[in-house]
Amino acid sequence: MKLEKGELPEPLDAEARRRVSPVICYPVNSLAPPDLAAYRAAREGWQKVDEVIVPPRDARCFAVPAGCFFRIVSVEGPQVGDLNLWAANDLNERFFSGKTRALHGTHLSTGDRLWSSLPYLRPMATITQDTLDWYGFDAWGGSVHDVIGTRCDPYTHRLLSGHDYHHCCHSNLTRALAHHLSRPRDMVEPAVHDVLNVFMCTGFTRGTGQYFMKASPVRPGDFLEFFAEIDLLGALSACPGGDCSAEHSSDTAACHPLLVELFRPMTPPEGWTSPTRNSYSGEHGD
Ligand SMILES: [Zn+2]
Repeated sequence: MKLEKGELPEPLDAEARRRVSPVICYPVNSLAPPDLAAYRAAREGWQKVDEVIVPPRDARCFAVPAGCFFRIVSVEGPQVGDLNLWAANDLNERFFSGKTRALHGTHLSTGDRLWSSLPYLRPMATITQDTLDWYGFDAWGGSVHDVIGTRCDPYTHRLLSGHDYHHCCHSNLTRALAHHLSRPRDMVEPAVHDVLNVFMCTGFTRGTGQYFMKASPVRPGDFLEFFAEIDLLGALSACPGGDCSAEHSSDTAACHPLLVELFRPMTPPEGWTSPTRNSYSGEHGD
């Protein structure tokens, strides 16, 4: 007889087992905290050197040299952005959403770093300002800028709805990267990876642990600011879900553009050096 979930009786000490206290998986106290004062001081007299408008339901690439800042800015209306980052000279080194989550938690804000994939595992960017810092966690456990979602994609959409939709963030990022590198879409698609969900408000439902989204609190003028720790290639998709209050992967939500601004400081932050790749030997033992 096949047992359904929840049909097995609980052990007698079930409550005692549940009462065991959690410990933080990856305490980050051993890491030198980012010198936010030095990053902030480097903004003094900086110059805006470029900007890129990301059209709704589409994506654009942008390059950020190490030592420069970039901002993702809300313009016109509430809009969620899906961010990919690569090392400018090596698409194999890319943003590692899962390890960033393990190190900094489910949602990122000022002072958190965006870590790169193995075997590189170094900070690619540091978040230096977040105008949505005030949101914190709401009564549902929701917060903004998550690293728990992946990105909306046409494969999951096909799986769940049986239909094709071509302007999911995954497809937008694929098209933008293919265009930027002048390479075929099928060649660059594997480089598209799990994102930082900029401005998206998400969490997990209590009890069932399901991934939820709710209307983003972002308003025009809000921004998330990053410092590029290494030479970066970025791609940002303006999600077809708009503020992601109802659904994604369709053309029904109100969508707005996003703005990416690039700033070059007069001098790098005091004491800053670009991080080298992780120093583990890569031997993996016998
Ligand atoms: Zn999306």
